[in-house]
Amino acid sequence: MTARVIDGKAVAADVRARIAEVVGKRERKPGLATVLVGEDPASHVYVGSKRKACAEAGIRSIHHEVPATISQGELNDLVRGLNADPEVDGILVQLPLPEGLDPDPVLAEISPRKDVDGLTAANAGLLAQGRIGLAEALELEPSEPPLGLIPCTPAGCVELLARVGAELEGAEAVIVGRSNLVGRPLGSLLLGANATVTTCHSRTRDLPAVCRRADILIAAVGVPKLIEADWVKPGATVIDVGMNRTDEGLVGDVDYAAVAQVAGAITPVPGGVGPMTIAMLLANTVRTSVAPASAP
Ligand code: NAP
Repeated sequence: MTARVIDGKAVAADVRARIAEVVGKRERKPGLATVLVGEDPASHVYVGSKRKACAEAGIRSIHHEVPATISQGELNDLVRGLNADPEVDGILVQLPLPEGLDPDPVLAEISPRKDVDGLTAANAGLLAQGRIGLAEALELEPSEPPLGLIPCTPAGCVELLARVGAELEGAEAVIVGRSNLVGRPLGSLLLGANATVTTCHSRTRDLPAVCRRADILIAAVGVPKLIEADWVKPGATVIDVGMNRTDEGLVGDVDYAAVAQVAGAITPVPGGVGPMTIAMLLANTVRTSVAPASAP
C-alpha cells in the first residue's frame, strides 16, 4: 500500500483563504499582538511568518519586540497592558523565553479571551473537562463568542483529520507525546470526538505494540524517525507533528518513506502539520474578535 499524502500546505492555504474572506467582510479587523523577547533567530523567523500571515489575511498585527534584559515584572506588565487594550483581540507571547524569564507567570497574565495559543490554565482546563472541543477547533465563524480557545497545533491536526474524512468516533487513537502544547490537548480533543485515546510518553512500555493498535497514530515527540513501519497498523492514518532539524534537513518523528508504504494516509514533514499551526493561529484570532475586545 502507498499512503495518501495529506497536503497540509493546501489545507492551510484553504483555511487562510476562508479567514481572509471572513475578515474581509468585517468592518473592524481583528488585531493580533505578538510579543518577541530577545534575539533567538528561530523565534524571530516564527514571529515574522505569523505577522506576514496576519497581513495576508487582513488581520492587524501589533508587534512588541523587547530585549532579553526585560524583567519578569516588566514583561508581565506588558501583557497586562495588552489585555486592557481594546485594539488587541489576541495575544501571542513567543516561546521559549530567554534564560532567566519564566513563561508560566507570563502565560498566567494573558486574558483567556485573548489567549490565541490556548495555553492558559483556563483554556486548557475547559478542554480537559470536555467543555470545549471540536467546534472551537474547527468553527471559523461562531455565532457567539467561543467559551474557550484550543491550542493551534492540535487544532491543525484535527482539521487535517477532518479533511481526510478520518472516522474519529470509536477509533483507536494513539498519541506519542504528552506536552501541554500538543499531546495533552490533542488527547482531550480526540476524546471529546469519542475516539478511544491512548497517550504515550518516554516511560511507556512496548511503545511499538501500543502504536500498532492505532487507527489514528499521532507523533509529537521530537525524536527524528522514531515511528517505524512495523509500528503502524496497515491502513492507519498517521499525523507527524515532529519538526527535527538534522543533517538531512527537517525531518519528522515518523520514518516517512517506510511508513508511507504501510499507512492509509500520512502527513509529510515539511508540508503537513507545520503550515496548519499558523492557519489555526489566524483562526483563533478571528474567533477572539467575536468577543467584545474589552472583555476581561
Ligand atoms: P516536548 O514538550 O519535548 O514533549 C515531547 C514528548 O515526547 C514528551 O511527552 C516525552 O515524554 C515524549 N517522548 C520523548 N522521547 C520519547 C520516546 N523515545 N518515546 C516516547 N515518548 C517520548 O515536545 P513538543 O513541544 O510536544 O513537540 C514535539 C515535536 O513536535 C517536536 O519535534 C516539535 O518541534 C514539534 N512541534 C511541531 C509543531 C508544528 O507546528 N508542526 C508545533 C509544536 C511542536 P515525557 O513526557 O515522558 O518526557
